[in-house]
Amino acid sequence: MRWETVIGIEIHAELSTKSKIFCGCSTEFGEFPNSNTCPVCIGLPGALPVLNEEVIQLALKAGLALNCKVNFVNKMDRKNYFYPDLPKAYQISQFDLPILYDGYVEFEVDETVKKININRIHLEEDAGKLIHLGEYTCIDYNRGGVALIELVTEPELRSPREAFQFVKAIKSIFEYTEVSDCKMEQGSLRFDANISVREKGQKGLNTKVEIKNLNSFKEMQKALEKEEKRQIELYEFGEGDKIVQETRRWDSAKGRTVSMRGKEEAHDYRYFPEPDLRPIAISKKNVADLKKEIPELPSEKLERLQVQFNLNKKEVKTVVEDKKLSLLFEETVKKGASAEKVLNWIVGDLLRLMKTDEVKGDIPISATALAELINSIENGDISLKIGREIFEEMFATNKMARVIINERGLIQVSSKEELESIVEKIIENNPKSVADYNAGRKQAITYLMGQVMKETKGQANPRLTMQLLEREMKNQISP
Ligand SMILES: [Zn+2]
Repeated sequence: MRWETVIGIEIHAELSTKSKIFCGCSTEFGEFPNSNTCPVCIGLPGALPVLNEEVIQLALKAGLALNCKVNFVNKMDRKNYFYPDLPKAYQISQFDLPILYDGYVEFEVDETVKKININRIHLEEDAGKLIHLGEYTCIDYNRGGVALIELVTEPELRSPREAFQFVKAIKSIFEYTEVSDCKMEQGSLRFDANISVREKGQKGLNTKVEIKNLNSFKEMQKALEKEEKRQIELYEFGEGDKIVQETRRWDSAKGRTVSMRGKEEAHDYRYFPEPDLRPIAISKKNVADLKKEIPELPSEKLERLQVQFNLNKKEVKTVVEDKKLSLLFEETVKKGASAEKVLNWIVGDLLRLMKTDEVKGDIPISATALAELINSIENGDISLKIGREIFEEMFATNKMARVIINERGLIQVSSKEELESIVEKIIENNPKSVADYNAGRKQAITYLMGQVMKETKGQANPRLTMQLLEREMKNQISP
């Protein structure tokens, strides 16, 4: 490979405050358009912003979890641009003194630990949302003024896959520290990526392109892969000058990036200090106190669970990366289910039913329900096969395993006498299979097993059935 890819990521995360950054309006998602607004967040003349103190605490928490340094005195600035989603025609943001800077995060990419430096994390207000309806465009300012942090990495990611793992790691840290609910489908976590390619060994960077509209991890990876390919092809055909600094939009339906506009330089925004807000002073004690509040982070939890249970690392990682999955895992184990079994159910059936590796919304299965199901299988009350059917119903209906087992009469047939008579009947009715088996074609027993299952509607205890079949067939040879 002659080429090296250079990627930097910007992440916008809505902080999980109840009210907006400069006014008391609610941040609740999905309310009637423009119902969560006031003179401050729709920019009426004379309305003055007041900083929400909670915003500082959450931003600091995010930064401390990402090993950032704190600017003990920082300030807000105005970023001026005209667009209808911004009623004041400027966004209150931070320019030269961000609240946090110089951090890093370590995460795994294909079994190796990668360290990515974070240039800065700054505070800003979110913009409103444009809704295009036919020839009209409507505007909803409910989101306008919601508190955001923007995290900017150094251009140190070297592949779309690394970028994918990086955003996953950040999302997971934000969830563990509860600084943001990270609901990507509601836009509380959004990311943009800058990408350029250069020849290996080259010192400087080539022209970069910014990609917007990346609304899931997978889409981001796909968009970066396409853009990487586009740029490499242009360089290889001697048309590198066609790569210009611009913003491109990812069109997921067409599977390609499309040019949106030329990229603005910072001076286009005429940044200047926000005159309506005082500089923000942070005390050392505040930071020290917050450090104590940082919970166990995903990487630490992964290590702890590895030591505690010695399970498949890749699977444990999948569970740990998602806070909700990791809670389900730990609680189910606490309720007495075997850790290995719990892990299997979560990474197997649960994730399959959720049809994604990014859990959206709540998990419809509780730890109590999952533990009960696992124990019912262990006790031999139901077979694994029936267990998986029950799991699907639990997932769809929220019912407890025990309720479904009783409703559907699914208790496994484990009574030896009952099974014996069924096995005898099956053997009597299938002399050919028995002859095959006794002639050395051992797989014939699978067919007979199937017949027993059919007879019992899948409720025969498989281990016991197998023992009985083997015993009965031996009897057939030497009656
Ligand atoms: Zn407001």
